Amino acid sequence: MQVPKPIKKEKKKKRKASEYTIALQNADANFSLFIRLRAKTENNLRCVTCNNLTEFGTSNCQAGHYVSRKLHKYRFDERNVNIQCYACNIANYGALISYADFIKRKYGKETLEELDNYYKDWRHGKIIAKRYNIEELKSIELKYDNKIKELKND
Ligand SMILES: [Zn+2]
Repeated sequence: MQVPKPIKKEKKKKRKASEYTIALQNADANFSLFIRLRAKTENNLRCVTCNNLTEFGTSNCQAGHYVSRKLHKYRFDERNVNIQCYACNIANYGALISYADFIKRKYGKETLEELDNYYKDWRHGKIIAKRYNIEELKSIELKYDNKIKELKND
């Protein structure tokens, strides 16, 4: 009797992250760390939308975007990204109503309108969101590398 050959399982090939994805991740990582260090330096690690205190270096201390990260124009805008707790940023999808209040208080009505209008125009197909290219992402990564070093030296 012939022993049936074991069926070879096809190995799932792990797709290597593209150079673009890596550049985006690196820029994101540095920018996020900068936002959190900025808050730590200012001794204000409260979630901007629920006011609960977060702890630096934990998953409850996040750099939350008001206008979605999908829109690169504001992905690395220091007004658009602020401390949020996990519940507000993830579970509550950014708690955008409170977030709008915060932006208005902290950066003014014009900033809030600028961000809201850009998002609305994009939603309505009036603008196409430009994406950063690899070179631009690398220079953002470097810019925030330097800003992180400055904050750490203070
Ligand atoms: Zn919160």
